[in-house]
Amino acid sequence: MARGKDTEPSPGRRGKSHLPEKLCIACNRPFAWRKKWARDWEQVRYCSDRCRSAGDRNGPKPQR
Ligand SMILES: [Zn+2]
Repeated sequence: MARGKDTEPSPGRRGKSHLPEKLCIACNRPFAWRKKWARDWEQVRYCSDRCRSAGDRNGPKPQR
């Protein structure tokens, strides 16, 4: 059995955190997958609620 090494075809193997990434459309910063987005990951477009409220609508910010 010449199975060789059981390596995955994923470049950049840093530890065991190969989570998908997205680009926040609000701050244009890449953010990694989060457990809280496990259900709506495909719909997530912001890295955080702050960006979402800021990018969702040009409305007022809840933060003072
Ligand atoms: Zn953001």
